[in-house]
Amino acid sequence: AIAPIITVDGPSGSGKGTLCQLLAAKLGWHILDSGAIYRVLALAALHHNVELDNELALTILAANLDVRFEVTDNGLQVILEGENVSREIRTEEAGFAASRTAVYPAVREALLQRQRDFRVAPGLIADGRDMGTVVFTDANVKIFLDASTEERAIRRFNQLQDKGFDVSMSTLLGEIEKRDHQDRNRLVAPLKPADDALVIDSTSMSIEDVVASVLAFAEGKI
Ligand code: C5P
Repeated sequence: AIAPIITVDGPSGSGKGTLCQLLAAKLGWHILDSGAIYRVLALAALHHNVELDNELALTILAANLDVRFEVTDNGLQVILEGENVSREIRTEEAGFAASRTAVYPAVREALLQRQRDFRVAPGLIADGRDMGTVVFTDANVKIFLDASTEERAIRRFNQLQDKGFDVSMSTLLGEIEKRDHQDRNRLVAPLKPADDALVIDSTSMSIEDVVASVLAFAEGKI
């Protein structure tokens, strides 16, 4: 039987990452951080002197991307060509570079199977922008997690500060708005809720309340 799956899509800073970790821990399921794949691709482009607007070269890089994910007590470890890049890929600059590579249809196509391979027993929580609309259209449960731009900027700010990055709130707000605009308005796999997704606005919700809403919605479906 095919493994069950919960997809969680939404803009940056909406709380998807935390929600997915809590759901995965609660259900004992695997996790796919699809954004990390796009972030790694952008980093690989930098390492190999590939321009971020060279669709063909990016596609070849995507098809041959040598990346491994390891779940550890220290969180998800991302290994690109044998080098641990977990920290490097988390900056907002890396996020924006990822978003630039993500506009190309052939690049997305080259990464499809790699993402689908994460769907193994006992189940998968998939975090991204197009998990419910493109990659796992037959998901048991689809969630679209949103929050106001200001709230998302605050969450990202705290997250980056916790990781020891030096960030300015006003710069971050502008960067997040720019990246989301790019993700929502691209021609292929734009960020939007699937028709059958539960849309949750988490602006004034605690993460515990969000988890409870998802589990209530998922009841009987997984
Ligand atoms: O989720 P995260 O912020 O790590 O994603 C980085 C970028 O990768 C997003 O802004 C988006 O452009 C791209 N992405 C995507 N499709 C996904 C996940 C991420 O296009 N499923």
